[in-house]
Amino acid sequence: MKRYRIAVLGNGPVGILAALHAARQGHGPVLLLAADPPASIDAEGGGYRIEAVPVSMLALLLEYGIHPHLIGAGQTHAVRQIQWDSQSCMSVPTPRTVHIHRPALEQALWQKLLQEPRIHLHLGEQSLQLHDVGVDSINGDNPNNWHADLLIDASGRAARTASSIDKSQQPWVARLYTLANNTRHPNPVRSHFQPHFKLAALPEGYVYSLATPEVQNVVFVGRGKAVKGSAKELQKLLQDTQAEWVLQGLPQLTEFHSGMARPVSLQWAASARSVLIGDAALARDILSSQGLSCGLSEALCVADLGTPQARANFQQRQKQQRQLHATALLIQIRSCLYGMEAAWQDYAQFIMRART
Ligand SMILES: Cc1cc2nc3c(=O)[nH]c(=O)nc-3n(C[C@H](O)[C@H](O)[C@H](O)COP(=O)(O)OP(=O)(O)OC[C@H]3O[C@@H](n4cnc5c(N)ncnc54)[C@H](O)[C@@H]3O)c2cc1C
Repeated sequence: MKRYRIAVLGNGPVGILAALHAARQGHGPVLLLAADPPASIDAEGGGYRIEAVPVSMLALLLEYGIHPHLIGAGQTHAVRQIQWDSQSCMSVPTPRTVHIHRPALEQALWQKLLQEPRIHLHLGEQSLQLHDVGVDSINGDNPNNWHADLLIDASGRAARTASSIDKSQQPWVARLYTLANNTRHPNPVRSHFQPHFKLAALPEGYVYSLATPEVQNVVFVGRGKAVKGSAKELQKLLQDTQAEWVLQGLPQLTEFHSGMARPVSLQWAASARSVLIGDAALARDILSSQGLSCGLSEALCVADLGTPQARANFQQRQKQQRQLHATALLIQIRSCLYGMEAAWQDYAQFIMRART
């Protein structure tokens, strides 16, 4: 039976960085358990997501050989335009961020992983036998059976090894609208892209837009009317709520590709027999634009979690992070123009549980 000190479950950015980091720290070979390789990049399809991240994250990725140009990072942003506590739009200074191509980040990390001989990759759905903290594979008499002293669960919102998951009964979802610059097109749309982050509150959620020179995203988040309906209906919703400026200068929403709705509201989980990191531990509301960078920071801690005391301290810090995030969200809801609407109030009730 093969023995590992660390096994990582999940090949999202957090899981891959955790495995790369642990391998670099000289913890012997690290096992990475991945359900599937990342999907191939389709910038013109509906799922091409842009994420806003702190500029400092680029330095971290560069340390792992991922150059900013590989992930679409260019212009930095220090101002957001928001319509939140009233129907007027304001420019608000923010810590400097950069917009990156999320599928490109997944591919770049995946390539680094494949080049790292100290990481052993097992693909496909895994049958696991969890112990106090360690884990064994369950494969009958298979000679590829393995044991790991520590299981790091970075399986995202699935939180595969969690003993409890707290999520809202009516999770808010994001509907992503994407427009890619098509260089083959006789009249490229690129010049219309609006790179700055724009955000407007809606009665049952919010809408934001952001872009890189190659891709424009418009994202509707919430429940009910804020995310259901056709592109025309959503555009009408923006007119009715005087939030149409978010689309100003852009082609009609009907020209965008529409992606699948995905849950994006707050969720957290606990596990006594594994260490949860990234979204598996705390999936932040995307309103904060912090999920990716906070998850990657946690990935850099996994090599130091060898003792029960270190794990207890780590989990205590995660709890504090959850409470801080919940408090920040509640402040944002309180100041929201629509904060007294039922959808926002229901969500606020749920978020309060994250402060305990
Ligand atoms: C629409 C949208 C917009 C966002 N915008 C931003 C933003 O602007 N800024 C920001 O910082 N964050 C943003 N986020 C949040 C950010 O994407 C997440 O915080 C980040 O992806 C967390 O990474 P992760 O690796 O923990 O989880 P994930 O990215 O979810 O990765 C989990 C991985 O685990 C794998 N997996 C699941 N189950 C199993 C299993 N049983 N076995 C093996 N593997 C498994 C999955 O296939 C996946 O590859 C956004 C999220 C969404 C949905």
